[in-house]
Amino acid sequence: MKYPKLREIGEAIRALIKGPYTSKYPFEPHTPPKKFRGKPIPDDEYCIGCMACSEVCPPDAIEVVDDPEKGIRKIYRYYDRCIFCGQCEVNCITEKGVQMSNEYDLAAFDRNKLRCEQEFELVLCEKCGAIIGSKKHLLWLVKKLGPLAYGNFPLILTAQKELKTLMPDIPPSSHPSSESPPRVRSDVFRILCPKCRHEALIFDQYGH
Ligand code: SF4
Ligand code: SF4
Repeated sequence: MKYPKLREIGEAIRALIKGPYTSKYPFEPHTPPKKFRGKPIPDDEYCIGCMACSEVCPPDAIEVVDDPEKGIRKIYRYYDRCIFCGQCEVNCITEKGVQMSNEYDLAAFDRNKLRCEQEFELVLCEKCGAIIGSKKHLLWLVKKLGPLAYGNFPLILTAQKELKTLMPDIPPSSHPSSESPPRVRSDVFRILCPKCRHEALIFDQYGH
């Protein structure tokens, strides 16, 4: 016959005095321990739609869907795929865009209830329509960089547009819809993607 070890006897005595380690959930409410990682909840005040969390999410539980036609970015977080690793919280560039919560009771019959959706306005290249980033992300960068942001036209022009301090008399741009868009040097004063900015800097409307 095997005799219980001293550690097991100690645990039995401790359980007799302090009660069991297990809780009676769901018959009684359960309080998770400190540092418990439950449902990651985005905070719309601090989340800027930068996509960094979706890049590091191991099971692809964060999906980013960009719609340049409507100029919006949607971020979906799927809690039925989430493994509660906390990488999204750790790698969030604003440090508060998403927080691991104490929520653990996520069971549901309808998977559509196990997701959350966020929407962000996109900033697009005024010449070719390429996505530059979410407006909230660019404005956050302007604030973060301070005077250094003046070295980047899309950043500072987005901020000026937001503050309604953008000069209104910029000459007509080479519009993306025109068949053979002329390149004009003044396009550098527009919100352009790196490729179109490069072209506007190098060429003028005669291709020189
Ligand atoms: S990394 Fe943070 S700020 Fe960026 S999209 Fe994710 S939660 Fe939002
Ligand atoms: S906790 Fe981990 S798995 Fe869940 S959304 Fe964040 S990064 Fe993805």
